[in-house]
Amino acid sequence: MSKALIIGAGGVASVVVHKCCQNSDVFEEICIASRTLSKCDALKEQVKKYKTKVTTAQVDADKTEEVIALIEKFKPDIVINVALPYQDLTIMDACLATKVDYLDTANYEPLDTAKFEYKWQWAYRERFEKAGITAVLGCGFDPGVTGVFTAYALKHYFDEIHTIDILDANAGDHGYPFATNFNPEINIREVTAKGSYFENGQFIETEPMEIKRVYNFPEIGEKDMYLLHHEEIESLALNVPGIKRIRFFMTFSERYLTHLRVLQNVGMTSIGPIDFEGHKIVPLQFLKAVLPDPASLGPRTKGKTNIGCIYTGIKDGKEVQYYVYNVCDHEECYREVGSQAISYTTGVPAMIGAMMVLTGKWKKPGVYNVEEFDPDPFMNKLNECGLPWKETFKPEIVD
Ligand code: NDP
Repeated sequence: MSKALIIGAGGVASVVVHKCCQNSDVFEEICIASRTLSKCDALKEQVKKYKTKVTTAQVDADKTEEVIALIEKFKPDIVINVALPYQDLTIMDACLATKVDYLDTANYEPLDTAKFEYKWQWAYRERFEKAGITAVLGCGFDPGVTGVFTAYALKHYFDEIHTIDILDANAGDHGYPFATNFNPEINIREVTAKGSYFENGQFIETEPMEIKRVYNFPEIGEKDMYLLHHEEIESLALNVPGIKRIRFFMTFSERYLTHLRVLQNVGMTSIGPIDFEGHKIVPLQFLKAVLPDPASLGPRTKGKTNIGCIYTGIKDGKEVQYYVYNVCDHEECYREVGSQAISYTTGVPAMIGAMMVLTGKWKKPGVYNVEEFDPDPFMNKLNECGLPWKETFKPEIVD
C-alpha cells in the first residue's frame, strides 16, 4: 500500500497512470504532477473507475525547490519521473533532500548537448547510498526491459555473454507522412546523433545511420534497421562481465529517413538557438510544435512493435544463442489504455519498476541500472501486466 508521485503528463505518463491504477493493491494513491495542470486533470478523469486515489498538481520540475515542496506536501514513497530527460537531476536532487526513492526511463542530457550519458546520474551513487534511498535508472523498454532481459539471460542461460544485439522494430503505421512515436525533440536528437557500438572494451563511433542491416522480425517480417547509439550500451558494457560486443539497431522506413534528411538539410533539426523576428528559437523545438503530438497517434496507429535482445555466449563450455523479445500491438494498447505501443512499452516497465521498489524486491540504497537487480520478479510481472515475452534458442543472427 504505497503512494507514488508521477511527474509528467505526456504519452508515457498516461500509460504509467493507467497501469498504477490497474494495480491499486500496490499503488493505493498517486499524484500526477506536470507543467500543464489541465493535462494532469484530463488523465485523472480517464482513470476514475479505479480504486487508486488520484490527485493532481502543477509543478515545474526544472526547479528543485518546487519538486521538494510537492514531495513534502504529498509524501510519496517513490517519485516516477516520466517528464523529460532534462529534469532528471533536479528531480533526483529533490528526492535526496526528502529521502524518497526515484525511478526514470531516460538518462539525463543537458538541453544544449545531444549526448546522453550516465555520468551525471552515476555521480549521485554515494549520496543516494548515504541517504538510504534507491534510484532506478532507465526503466522503460529500451533502456529498461532490455537490461532486465540481459540479467535474466545471464542468470539462467549463460556463464558468459559475449555479444548482445538489441533490436527495436516498429511496424506501426499512423497514416501521417512524418511523425515521431514519442517526444519529437528527444526522438530526433537520438536519431540524428552519431551512432556507436561497444567492441572489445571500447566505443566505436559511426556516422548517423551508417550501418544498416535487414532483419526478419518474428510476427512483423523483414525490416531495414540501423545502428544507433543507445544509453543501455553504456551500462551493459560495465555490468555484463566478459562482454565483447554490444550493438543497438532500430527500424526506420525509407519514408521516415527521407523526411528526416530533408529536415536536417534545411536546418530544422538543429538544437542551436537562432534569431527569429526578434526572438530566440531552437529549430528542433519549433519543429516539435508543428509535428503531430505523439499522444494523438494512438487512435490512428495500426501494426505491431517487436523489441528484444539476441545474446551469444557460452554455458557449460558450449556455445549458446538466445533471443528474448516482446511483440506489442498498437491497436490493442489503444483499446486498453488509450495510447499507442511506444508509450505502452515504456510506461508498463516504469510501473513495474516502481512496484519492484515499493514491494521491497528492488529496494537497495544507491543508484542502479535495471540489470543490477534480480530480473525474475520483473519478468513475471511483464507477463502479467501486458508485455508478455517470448524466447527462442535458434534465432536468426545479425551479421
Ligand atoms: P511527452 O513529451 O509526451 O511528455 C513529457 C511530459 O513532461 C509532458 O507532460 C510535459 O509537460 C512534462 N514536462 C516537460 N518539462 C517539464 C517540467 N519542467 N516540469 C514538469 N513537467 C514537465 O514525452 P513522452 O511521454 O513521450 O516521454 C516521457 C519520457 O519517456 C522521456 O524522458 C522519454 O525520453 C522517455 N522514453 C523512454 C523510452 C524507453 O524505452 N526507455 C521510450 C520512449 C520514451 P507539458 O505537457 O507541459 O509539455
